[in-house]
Amino acid sequence: MVEFPWDRSPHDLLDLTQAIEFHLGRRAGAERNAPRVIDLDILYLGELTERGGILDLPHPRLTSRRFVLQPLTDIRPELVLPGDTATIAEHLAHFDGDEPELSLVQGSW
Ligand code: ADP
Ligand code: MG
Repeated sequence: MVEFPWDRSPHDLLDLTQAIEFHLGRRAGAERNAPRVIDLDILYLGELTERGGILDLPHPRLTSRRFVLQPLTDIRPELVLPGDTATIAEHLAHFDGDEPELSLVQGSW
């Protein structure tokens, strides 16, 4: 998870993340949630709200995924997304999906 400043258009950012996915070996056509080598999602872009196009912002499944809420809480616990009233930390505290808590795994590489 990474947060960085962006002063170009949202679609330029989507082009960039999709180019990175392509260069890392992801190919179009896989159905949603199918295994893929890389998945770069844009979670939010400042106060921008977009729905129904090729880019949805904030990401529509952000608050229903613990694997997103947990690391985002690490870096931006007080963030309130546009159109929302609860902080990211509050969403995590009230998360009631069946996704298990993430734990750090020690790699051997
Ligand atoms: P998911 O990330 O939910 O598993 P996919 O990666 O399979 O879904 O979906 C890819 C498509 O989702 C892209 O073609 C892109 O147009 C669209 N999309 C819509 N909103 C976003 C977003 N915020 N971040 C990344 N992709 C998005
Ligand atoms: Mg994606």
